[in-house]
Amino acid sequence: MPIPSPGTRVIVPLLKKELRGVVLREHTEPIEPAFADKIRPILSVVDTAPVVTREQLALWQWMSSYYMCSLGEVMAAALPGGLDKRLTDPPKRARKALAPYTGPIEPMHDLSPAQAKSADEIETFWRSGKDIVLLHGVTSGGKTDIYIHLIQAQLEAGKNVLYLVPEIALTTQLTSRLQTIFGDRLIVYHSRFTDAEREARYKKLSTFNFQLSTNYVVIGARSAIFLPISDLGLVIVDEEHEPSYKQAEPNPRYHARAAAIMLAQLHQAKVLLGTATPSIESYYLAQKGVYGLVSLTERFGGVELPDIQLIDLKRQYERKEMYGHFSDPLVERIRQCLADHKQVILFQNRRGYAPQIQCMQCGEPPRCVQCDVPMTLHLRPREMRCHYCGYHTAVPAVCPQCGGELKAIGIGTERIEDEIQTLFPEARVLRMDLDTTRNKSAYQDIINAFANHECDILVGTQMVTKGLHFDDVRLVAVLNADPLFNQPDFRAYERAFQMLEQVAGRAGRKGTKGEVWIQTFDPANKVLQMVREHDYIALYNHQLAERQMFHYPPFHRMIRIQMRHTKQPQVHTTSTQLQTYLSQIFGRRVSAVIIPSVERVQAYYIRELTLRIESTANMAEAKRRLQEAIDQVWSIPSNKNVKLIIDIDPQ
Ligand SMILES: [Zn+2]
Ligand SMILES: [Zn+2]
Repeated sequence: MPIPSPGTRVIVPLLKKELRGVVLREHTEPIEPAFADKIRPILSVVDTAPVVTREQLALWQWMSSYYMCSLGEVMAAALPGGLDKRLTDPPKRARKALAPYTGPIEPMHDLSPAQAKSADEIETFWRSGKDIVLLHGVTSGGKTDIYIHLIQAQLEAGKNVLYLVPEIALTTQLTSRLQTIFGDRLIVYHSRFTDAEREARYKKLSTFNFQLSTNYVVIGARSAIFLPISDLGLVIVDEEHEPSYKQAEPNPRYHARAAAIMLAQLHQAKVLLGTATPSIESYYLAQKGVYGLVSLTERFGGVELPDIQLIDLKRQYERKEMYGHFSDPLVERIRQCLADHKQVILFQNRRGYAPQIQCMQCGEPPRCVQCDVPMTLHLRPREMRCHYCGYHTAVPAVCPQCGGELKAIGIGTERIEDEIQTLFPEARVLRMDLDTTRNKSAYQDIINAFANHECDILVGTQMVTKGLHFDDVRLVAVLNADPLFNQPDFRAYERAFQMLEQVAGRAGRKGTKGEVWIQTFDPANKVLQMVREHDYIALYNHQLAERQMFHYPPFHRMIRIQMRHTKQPQVHTTSTQLQTYLSQIFGRRVSAVIIPSVERVQAYYIRELTLRIESTANMAEAKRRLQEAIDQVWSIPSNKNVKLIIDIDPQ
């Protein structure tokens, strides 16, 4: 058997099992006598050539050490179908999915002077050695045209490109447009593909097996950073502020933006981060000159930013000028839009009918039996659902505690849909949220129907805010902005601004100025005023001061340590022990034991600790000492079954 090269999969014996593994490196040092009898032979070699590149292996190793998880966990996430799938012959169905593109090929748009200036500035930064550039571009500024231009330049220079977008933005609206420009050189990759479809793409890119005749651009969601792309010249991270770039679970809990920057460094490639509402962290690094900063302030085609109206719900309710959850002026405005054959988007970031059901006598909401969160009321079908674990059950006729009357509190998208349909029985209404888009094509069907004006009003959660372009939308309304601000999260204001700015970006295109109406009980809210002025810089300065004062990123790096156990006393004991250990090492950088707002999920009690380390400190050393403390605490037998989750840079 010839020595398999790094990146080749092999079968090895482990205990009494035979497992698949990947060759990391050839070991040439003399073997220490203590390990001599522990060396086992490779049983067989799976691949005829490596399926993992040198850069991929290096990325995996970085990810495992940075995110404090095992290399095996990274490999399982990185290889389609984990380690067990063959990566040799893609099945027929998958090969069909890779059928050549036969549609029309169109030339690129010429860039507008403002776009061309931005593209020039980006390339100038790159040439001057600033490899990472943040493009802060107004919504509808035509960032995609700039990307296309820069991609083309890379392809012509013989380099390949990785273009990351949030999963939800990966619509046919975007991919068809790119396909008309790049044709077969565009490779699409996302999590809705089957394993076979993903494998086919992995295989196609794997240059060890295939020699691609041309350079290519891969567009994909978060997990596309694991593809075996060679000769990488540029990584674009579009909507870089999007929280969905962070993998919440399972390990590796990586941030695709951070991983993309690392991947680019390994390839000595360029990075472009693009967004209308930069994350505070990225903008801070751009302000400090670590990243190049390019601002595009002019909307494409001279479309003006929408006017934003704030409606004071308190006053509307006092005057009884409300219909359900719609203020009278908003109802009138919608009526006018419909009369003018214009479309309307209604935004409410809660799905279901009502986020809570409350007893009018004892005040208690029915709660999930597995988690301690209030159940959400749904009407289609009529049931109560837990949005944490998916548990669902019939709606009780009366309060299970005291027999009192139950009332639906708050508004979800189903309720908005019902109310608007009652107000405008003639209007064609569609709803877009997690519940209406569970099957594979539903999301696309709704977008197509709305884009073709087969529907007048689209009700939806944040799904409607993501990079969609509808020419006939005049009015976007936010039914209640307040819940966006009342989140127990230091990023709540940043997220609220981003979400409202993105929602607002859906209004008005092609020569008509859009309108955005935001209903709120707190029209004086600072962030709402900033949204009204489209003033990102004000938000940034406000948030940065708070972050500094309260020791949050970008000034401190956070590590969240979560412990879970079915017995509350056990998780309490373990977390207290770890807290004590960590305090001795980190002092006040470690928090007290936190009981999260949702204390129990799926029958597991949860306790958390957060570590905040100065961003100037040696993080590797901090992680090493954290790991030592964990090893100490988990060496106590009673702690063995407590589940531990470490989240680096939690979102
Ligand atoms: Zn009750
Ligand atoms: Zn639950």
